[in-house]
Amino acid sequence: MKESKAPIRNNWTAEEIQEIYDLPIMELVYQAATVHRQYHNPLEVQVSTLLSIKTGGCPEDCSYCGQAARYHTDIKVQRLLPLETVLTHAKKAKANGSSRFCMAAAWREVRDNRDFDKVIDMVKGVNALDMEVCCTLGMLTDNQAKRLQEAGLYAYNHNIDTSENHYKDIISTRTFDQRLNTINSVRKAGITVCSGGIIGLGETNEDRISMLLTLATMDKHPESVPINALARVKGTPMEDMPKTDIWEMVRMIATTRIVIPTTMVRLSAGRLEMNEAEQGWCFLAGANSIFAGEEETLLVTPNPSLREDQQLFQKLGLKPMVLAEKK
Ligand code: SF4
Repeated sequence: MKESKAPIRNNWTAEEIQEIYDLPIMELVYQAATVHRQYHNPLEVQVSTLLSIKTGGCPEDCSYCGQAARYHTDIKVQRLLPLETVLTHAKKAKANGSSRFCMAAAWREVRDNRDFDKVIDMVKGVNALDMEVCCTLGMLTDNQAKRLQEAGLYAYNHNIDTSENHYKDIISTRTFDQRLNTINSVRKAGITVCSGGIIGLGETNEDRISMLLTLATMDKHPESVPINALARVKGTPMEDMPKTDIWEMVRMIATTRIVIPTTMVRLSAGRLEMNEAEQGWCFLAGANSIFAGEEETLLVTPNPSLREDQQLFQKLGLKPMVLAEKK
């Protein structure tokens, strides 16, 4: 008898998600791996490249971020990169197996100025390379989202970071609702949504459940959910936080996979602090994407090298996802 697929639900309750999150880890991973196989090829992992197109000097106060101007970190401020430089990086990323290229600018919000016009040209240029093109540029208006969509933007990243309740302890310069407004603008423009969070910010388990509840009860689930382990950046308020326990990461990934079955679960920041076996657990629990950063960095924090990732894929029998056709 053919096994039926886990249903896609937008009416999860906190209690239901908590119950899943609290399962014994072996059972949790088994259930997540089962759902994963129903909706995805478990041997394929999408490699996404993330390039910082404008680094540092950000007016926001996200307490985990080394790019906030107010913290004294070692990060070098870099103005918006030229179009040609970005396209060179994108071509290299594609040649190295990436099927998604994400451009990140450390802005509070997009402004309708020449820099945004340049980003529009970058989106057009990467789109022409037949890669999924993604941007993360801060808050957006409906009109700006529309312009990005018309330029060929496939996805927009805007993480909710943590629960609504914990949000104000992490960021004071904008609200959780502003975050959701931008996600709505992205959705309205017909761009796919990439939104997830970070664990290790001093949040409780209830905060994690609440964060997942927000994502899993959206009218349309995000097509992509990055799960980050805090990368502790020297000079930020979070520099002395304890290292995120691998089983908490696995638990979070598995729960995400079960409550949002169709999404790409992205094993994002913090991978450098995981060994091969630990990353293997994350893939088994339903992660099906990793970020490859340029020059072994993920935005501004260390990341495994391309060679290390290739070796990992070979050992685990994984292959980089190839886009069947540009959607
Ligand atoms: S996470 Fe983004 S918005 Fe927050 S300080 Fe860093 S660059 Fe600015």
